[in-house]
Amino acid sequence: MLSIVHRNIGWIEVICGSMFSGKSEELIRRLRRASIARQKVAVFKPRIDVRFSDDHIVSHSELKLASRVVENAWDILEQSLEAQVVGIDEAQFFDRDLLVVCQKLANMGKRVIVAGLDQDYRGEPFEPIPQLLAVAEYITKTHAICVVCGNPANYTQRKIQNTERVIVGASDIYEARCRNCFEPPEDVKTEVKLSGKGRRKKKERSG
Ligand code: ADP
Ligand code: ZN
Repeated sequence: MLSIVHRNIGWIEVICGSMFSGKSEELIRRLRRASIARQKVAVFKPRIDVRFSDDHIVSHSELKLASRVVENAWDILEQSLEAQVVGIDEAQFFDRDLLVVCQKLANMGKRVIVAGLDQDYRGEPFEPIPQLLAVAEYITKTHAICVVCGNPANYTQRKIQNTERVIVGASDIYEARCRNCFEPPEDVKTEVKLSGKGRRKKKERSG
């Protein structure tokens, strides 16, 4: 995909998927290659994610790349003026301003690579990733391995009872699951079942 010659234009790449699907590994791989090509690379992660290190992005397989911790999306813009390539990990922890910042960076001619969770522990779209997907030139969806059955996993199962959307953790709190093995909270289960019934009724009525 990137063998296409881009003449002084920027673009946005999004790498998304469940936890443990290899988003950080893929982000690190792309950023390392850019560095080898002697491009100026700036790498960021949000303050909320200092699980493994506060000056590196770190994958669950312990790959590491030096990064800066920022408080919000605007800090990324301020600190990327010199960069040709901008990498952002754990993008789901930024608010919607990240969309504006990524667009500005790409419009300035930079390659912007964003990695983040596309769904929360409830299996619901995790803003601002859906918005970024809509405007990105390139999208990569990564999959983990379902820890229950071994199929490709698209969901992040929370192993503890807690209804806060953001709880920072790793395999102590989360595991990767496929659609069949994913067990969403009761209210999500009920909602999905009810809307299914509703659709059938409507069909029966119209038929
Ligand atoms: P992400 O950024 O998507 O959370 P990482 O890039 O940090 O993922 O980590 C991916 C690595 O996680 C894999 O290479 C593997 O070593 C490890 N891993 C742990 N559990 C799983 C799993 N269930 N499926 C796939 N990889 C897993
Ligand atoms: Zn499964």
